[in-house]
Amino acid sequence: MASLISTLARIAFGPPPELVCRRDVWQTGVVELRRRTHGRREAGAFLLGRHGKRREIVEFVFYDDVDPKALATGMVEIDGRRLGALWTHCRAAGLTVVADVHVHPLGYGQSESDQANPIIAEVGHIAVILPNFAAKATIPGGIGVHQYLGNRRWRDRSRERPNPFHVGWWPK
Ligand SMILES: [Zn+2]
Repeated sequence: MASLISTLARIAFGPPPELVCRRDVWQTGVVELRRRTHGRREAGAFLLGRHGKRREIVEFVFYDDVDPKALATGMVEIDGRRLGALWTHCRAAGLTVVADVHVHPLGYGQSESDQANPIIAEVGHIAVILPNFAAKATIPGGIGVHQYLGNRRWRDRSRERPNPFHVGWWPK
């Protein structure tokens, strides 16, 4: 209830979020990410959705489903040759990659490698990082929300209140 009241206040007084995800979609995806880490390696997913007034996440596509070897080294590495099937799926479903998420062993700050290798090098793209193998904080306020500015530069928006990423109900 408290979260509905704060959502209603935010609708009235803004600012609106830039990225939203229904709570059930987010929780289901996060639980699956946690499972795939086995508590000892990173895991991640492309977050597919629609670009409307704001970006809405509707589907997780896990990196190790796109490339079975993506998690083998303990850090996420995707073979670009494996991405064809993802783009085919996006076209068929009318979806695009609206954000990405990956899991870290400890904190939610970006590594040098995260900053140097954006999953989608598009200005405004949001990369979410879940700390502690997704076993503790999993919603905005306690997770990494990093926005790509282009030229390998990022803006850390993790601590913004309200956060540009909203998990829960939001009017269309
Ligand atoms: Zn990382």
